[in-house]
Amino acid sequence: MKKILLFTLPLVLAFFAYKTIDSKKRKKNKKPNVVVILVDDLGYQDVGFNGSKEIPTPNIDRVANEGVKFTNGYVTYAVCGPSRAGLITGRYQDRFGSGRNPLWAPNDIAQGLSLEEETIADVLGREGYKSMALGKWHLGGHEKLRPLKRGFDEFYGFLTGGHRYFPEEWTLNDISEIKQHSDAYRTKLLHNDTRVDEKEYLTDALSREAVRFVDENADEPFFMYLAYNAPHAPLQATPKYLERFSHMEKGKRKTYCAMVSAVDDGVGLLLDKIDEKKIADNTIVIFLSDNGGSKKIKANNAPLKGHKGNFFEGGIRVPFAMKWPGQIPAGTTYERPVISLDIMATAVDYAKAKPKKPLDGVNIVPYINGEKEGDPHQSLRWRNYDKNMYAVRKGDTKLIHLFNTKNQNAHFEYYNVNEDIGETTILELSADEKQELQADYDAWLEQMLVPKYLGLLKDKQYSKENPDRFNVLAY
Ligand code: CA
Repeated sequence: MKKILLFTLPLVLAFFAYKTIDSKKRKKNKKPNVVVILVDDLGYQDVGFNGSKEIPTPNIDRVANEGVKFTNGYVTYAVCGPSRAGLITGRYQDRFGSGRNPLWAPNDIAQGLSLEEETIADVLGREGYKSMALGKWHLGGHEKLRPLKRGFDEFYGFLTGGHRYFPEEWTLNDISEIKQHSDAYRTKLLHNDTRVDEKEYLTDALSREAVRFVDENADEPFFMYLAYNAPHAPLQATPKYLERFSHMEKGKRKTYCAMVSAVDDGVGLLLDKIDEKKIADNTIVIFLSDNGGSKKIKANNAPLKGHKGNFFEGGIRVPFAMKWPGQIPAGTTYERPVISLDIMATAVDYAKAKPKKPLDGVNIVPYINGEKEGDPHQSLRWRNYDKNMYAVRKGDTKLIHLFNTKNQNAHFEYYNVNEDIGETTILELSADEKQELQADYDAWLEQMLVPKYLGLLKDKQYSKENPDRFNVLAY
């Protein structure tokens, strides 16, 4: 017996040693999962990690607490559509003419994200990633512009820029019943190409499907684009979430808080599932809003000036956090500027994927964990073509060009947005300093296109020019 043991023991030990190495090697070689949680019109102040005392967001805060909070996290535009086009391609949306919010126009292939561009899902898909888009799409309603044609393997949500939240209000069976833009908020949800009879409050339904996707795909690399439309209008919440704010007066702010709380529950369920599947160490989770808080829904952007729609910090600087245990130290605060464009650049770098076009973002992880010094970006730029409004941030200095479309008056303002986050004091710059910022913007602008389609603000004009706009087949 002893002899047998002496003989077999080294073999057994060698076998286990091999297994351990093998498992470590496999883990090391596995490409990280990427989860983007995008919320809609959320105020800078309306998450715990940015100081909210009014709305408890313990689960959203886990992303920041277990990773990094960005105090200078930007998006590429101050409203939904263009911001999403920038995020999902990793390129400034004006490079390909997506500078306006797409209209609901499912016959029009130009009304959405250009087919010449690749999405994160396209690029990661070539590396074997399985991808799911959930919630708000808003990158085109034409059949060739929908999520399953843009690199995603699965879709659960709706195609337009917003949606009503209560299932009993989803009275339209398909897009053939849409007769005006706002009708699209009342269609039944889509699961891939099929309309479904969803019974849950919209935010809860999206969370449930996100959890299911992780449950089913935890063994292979995946990319999830979880685009909650909350707390975008219309303001609608269920009693379960409203009761958490029973101390507040009935009104828009109370409903808004309840809607954010519903998102927080969903983020909690998703993070719990990632932990349960033991894939947290290999999963990059990013949380951000698509633009600054909207005044209409009573979002709180303090201490920033401005709001959704303009290029003061309150329109473009958003709640932004990221976690990747083992790569990003827990509890980090990163104070240099980053932008939603960096999400794709970071993801494709670790996936060793090769986008076909050059990206405007950079892999920000080495900057966060201190491997690289300096700023990830020399400068960042924003443009609103229709309002002749633009902004540049270079270092800590920001130029903002404002234009009054009524009296045609234009003027510049300059701020130090690091020391003066609320943009309260206009800087006195020298002519050379002003010119340096302007030259930076001008060089960038040369590479940009004018918008390729009429946007939401031109709804009537578009309908007049396109009388067949709503004449589409059931889908
Ligand atoms: Ca938005």
